[in-house]
Amino acid sequence: MAFEHVFGQPSAVATLSRSLARGRVHHAYRFEGPDGVGKELLALAFAQALVCTAGVVLGCERCDACRRATTKSTRPPEVPLHPDVIFVGRALYPAELIGGKKEASEISVEQIRRVVLSRAAYPPHEARHQVVIIRGAEELSSNAANALLKTLEEPRSGMHFVLLTSQPEVLLDTIKSRTLPVRFGPLPDDVLRTILLARGVPEERVAELSALAGGRASLALELADPERSAAREAFVQGLLEAMRRPGLGAAVAFAEGGERERTWLVESLGAFAQVFVEQAREHAARGSSRALQAAVRHALVIDAIDAIERNGQATLVMSGLVASLKAARQLRPGKPPSIPIARR
Ligand SMILES: [Zn+2]
Repeated sequence: MAFEHVFGQPSAVATLSRSLARGRVHHAYRFEGPDGVGKELLALAFAQALVCTAGVVLGCERCDACRRATTKSTRPPEVPLHPDVIFVGRALYPAELIGGKKEASEISVEQIRRVVLSRAAYPPHEARHQVVIIRGAEELSSNAANALLKTLEEPRSGMHFVLLTSQPEVLLDTIKSRTLPVRFGPLPDDVLRTILLARGVPEERVAELSALAGGRASLALELADPERSAAREAFVQGLLEAMRRPGLGAAVAFAEGGERERTWLVESLGAFAQVFVEQAREHAARGSSRALQAAVRHALVIDAIDAIERNGQATLVMSGLVASLKAARQLRPGKPPSIPIARR
């Protein structure tokens, strides 16, 4: 069963499989938890169970419907081949399919109208159920969210929604009140290890990647990519160099150095933060007062990641970060820190 392939989320798996077994499936779930811990995998397993034609409660994984429910098209839009498993996500559909909308930062109301509402009026194509999976539900524009409300509250019989989100606090209360929460946690180290080894990551890199990924399998796998690793390492070294240079010129030059994609930047800053975790550990082990400086620097990097995740302007956040990291050099225990912290 596909449910068996969702590792490290026993409580979420139990909730869904129990409701399927009892034939008491809710019409709208909200899967909450970090990115890359199995939310989408479980949503697909759930959809598969609902469209299976072999009469197996949790899906047989062998019938044609089961296979199409979890096989995505190789051409855009990369959505499941089964017509009753409907995927929604920012920039998932070519702009011409959703009224010319580019969807740079949010899921547009056009996508909801054309992909969801247009189908909500009709029965499923071939299965008895129809499942709408919304990836990154926190990115629904307020118009898109509002357009969904009525259908989300009272969908046609057989229609189910699964909203996936890593930022449930951003969702409208009206969306939250209409969906049943299912919580996902970061993956335990042993589960992450099994996943990484199964995907061919060399044994000697597993511990390092697990430490960086914070229980998120997709992030660990991305980090394992050699080209990405090299670019990340260059970024970390560039930042350390900018910190060492006198004045702020190097910081500004580094901050402005090239287009950096937000996700990549967050991931690379995560690797940079790890430098200070190591430093703090080493200094603390030697009883050195510089452990405090490393801890403060770590906190500054985490603040910068937070600012970037909240759509802060990357060049400003980065130059502010280097300035604050440099200022942290003057920190001494007992002396109150006065550093220009890069806040959103
Ligand atoms: Zn099946």
